[in-house]
This record gives sequence, structure tokens and C-alpha cells, in this order.
Amino acid sequence: MLHGGNIISGTGDACVHDGVVVVEDNIIIYVGAVKGMCIEGPIAPEIIDVKSKYILPGLIDAHVHVHISPIKGLRDLNRQAIIEDSEDLLSPFGSRLLRAVRNVQNALRGGVTMLRDCGTRDNIAVVLSKSIEKNVVVGPRLVTSGPMITTTGGHCWSFGREADAEAEVRKAVREIIHGGADMIKVAGTGGRATPGSNIYAPQYSAREMKALVEDAHRLNKKVGAHVLGTEGIRIAVSSDVDILDHCGWDSEDGPDYDERVVEEMTRKGVTVCATIPQDMKLALGETPESKEQETTLRLQSKYFRFLDKMLSAGVNMIVGTDSGLGGRNFKDLALALEVLTKRTAITESEVITMATRTAAQVLGHGDAVGTIQPGKEADLIVVEGDPTRDISSLRNVCLVMKAGVVVSKGDKIVI
Ligand SMILES: [Zn+2]
Repeated sequence: MLHGGNIISGTGDACVHDGVVVVEDNIIIYVGAVKGMCIEGPIAPEIIDVKSKYILPGLIDAHVHVHISPIKGLRDLNRQAIIEDSEDLLSPFGSRLLRAVRNVQNALRGGVTMLRDCGTRDNIAVVLSKSIEKNVVVGPRLVTSGPMITTTGGHCWSFGREADAEAEVRKAVREIIHGGADMIKVAGTGGRATPGSNIYAPQYSAREMKALVEDAHRLNKKVGAHVLGTEGIRIAVSSDVDILDHCGWDSEDGPDYDERVVEEMTRKGVTVCATIPQDMKLALGETPESKEQETTLRLQSKYFRFLDKMLSAGVNMIVGTDSGLGGRNFKDLALALEVLTKRTAITESEVITMATRTAAQVLGHGDAVGTIQPGKEADLIVVEGDPTRDISSLRNVCLVMKAGVVVSKGDKIVI
């Protein structure tokens, strides 16, 4: 029983002050004020005193790559793979898997109780997800995509499943789902982290993308597409892709925001997974020290304007860090949420909902987690201050509970 805290349930209801959350096994059985509460039963409850602290649902980082270890300042995925391979002479798979364990535990310490892996090498995210489910290792819930489907030499080819034509993308979808993935991830355009790919041009024709989505949906799996260039966004939306990762509205000739496509996105219920382009500290106001950082700042400002436009048009949105890439740390979701409240019109309460209830719904776990309500699994976190007033209080998480078990306390894994 968490006793005496202020409860932000994530349901949209007002904060319950001096409240209590009662958990039996892994399920929340009561949420409400301490005053007037009466618990009957033969066993005295274990009481965790959280007086004057804030309780909220566990956070969900909707875009990471668990097998990649953040290397500060490195943005080139090919070089990253070479560095990691040179360190892993004895057992590349074993080393990568252990690094992935460390990465997801870092996320958990930061209050993240669910991660969506957006493309993995050697199916590591799937292996890790099953191991966490079976309590072999402690970690957040993982929603996996297997290897990213990409063209030969395309974005993330070094850990992707290369597939070039309609029949090949269908086969790739079937292979990946057969391999245990929860959903499909496809590189709809090139990416900045893959030299030699083209961020402005689509990697797949509408015909190929439709075939891919059709086959994934036939097997009841959602599809997320990495898309930076507008033409790739158009193809993804017309092909009924479920999640657009990044969604950059770029073209060779500069920004190319298309309101008609945005209207189609809201009509079809397509979700955008917002990620912060590159350096988060820069986005939070650090002074640029190089030409490269000034370019990053301009890129960020343009992207934040697009996010505002999409939100005011009614686009559904979730948030991811893209951790592993570009030196981003798995504990950085709190920073990403802070950036969004400072650089867009998104409020603190809205960004918390995006990273809890909305993300759980989009990832297919809305019935089990995402809010603090009786009947749901107890994934929740405790922080010192009120994050709806000062979002930076999410930077220091005092306690993390996953499925009713305290897994991290004061930034240390305790199980
Ligand atoms: Zn990514």
C-alpha cells in the first residue's frame, strides 16, 4: 500500500491529495483518499509511506533501440556497429544482450516501466522481452518490433532485415512475427544516422508499403514507420501505417508540411511518435558551441513547430527518446518530456498523458497499464514534486513499482 501521497491517476481526474493506492499481488484494488478508507482482510498490509510525494503511472518510452549503447557524440550507426563489434570478440551476441539488460534497467531506474523497441539486432529485444516476462532478469515491459525492415543498404541496414520488393517485404513481415515480435517497424525513408541513405526520398513505393502493412494487419500486428521526408510520410499514411516515428516533413527544397496528409492522419487515427532531434540539452537552452550545433538548433525549432501544428490539427501523439542512438541515454525520457513542455505548446499534464495512458493504448496495453485505476496492473512511480507544475521533478524518481513489485528505489535496482 502506498500511503499519504498525491495521486495523478492519468485518467484526467483531478489529483487526489493525501491519497492511498492499494495493490494486491500485481493488481491495483483501491485508489482514493486516506480519509474514510477501510481495508478489511486477514493480512496486515505492507505500508510504503509516500507522504507529500506524487504518485503517477509508470512512464512509457515509445521509441528506443535496446541493443545499442549510447556513445556520446556518435551519430553514425555504421561506425557504432564497428566499434561494438571490435569490443565483442568473445561473444558478440552475449555482449550485446548484456548491454541491452543494462540499458533497459537504466530506463527502469528513470521511471520507465514500458519500452517500445523500434528495431533490434540479432532479435535481442525479443529475447530480452521474453526473459523479463519470465522474471529471468528485471526490466521494464518491452513491446518489440524485431529487426527493422529496410532496403538493401537503407536506413539501419546494419541491424535491419533488408527487403527490396513486394514479395520480400511480405516474407520479412512473416519472418519477424514468426520470430516473436509484437509489431513491425519499417524504414519509410533514409535516416541521418545512416550515411548513404536519403532522408528525403521514400525507401518503398506505395505498392510495397501497402503490401507490408496489409500482411502485418492480417496477422493483427501494428506497423510503425521511420519517416523524415514528406513523400515517405504520404506513402506511409496512404498505406495505413499505424505509427509515424519522427515525422519530419522535410524535402530537398526545405520544409514541406502537408495539411491534407495531416487531415488524413487524424481521420485514420494515425499516431505520431515525437522524438527530440539530437541533443536534448541544446533543446533545453544550452548555448550552441559549433556550426553543427547551430544547425541542430534550427532543425529542432522547425520540428517543434511541426509538432504544434499537428497537435492543433488533432493528431494523436506519443513520445520516444530514440535511446541508443546519438548518445541518448535510456534514462532521458524525463528530459524529452521537459523539452516538449518548454519548446512546444504541450502542457505538463498533456505530456504526462502522452507518455502514460496514450502510449499504453497505442501499444496495445491500455487495458492493463497506463493509468492508476482499480483492476489495472500496478505500474507506478513516485517523485518528490508535482510534475504537473514542474515537469523536471520527473528527473529524480524515488520509487518504481512494476506489476506490484518495487523494482527500483532512489535510482537503484532493488530486486
Ligand atoms: Zn529509432
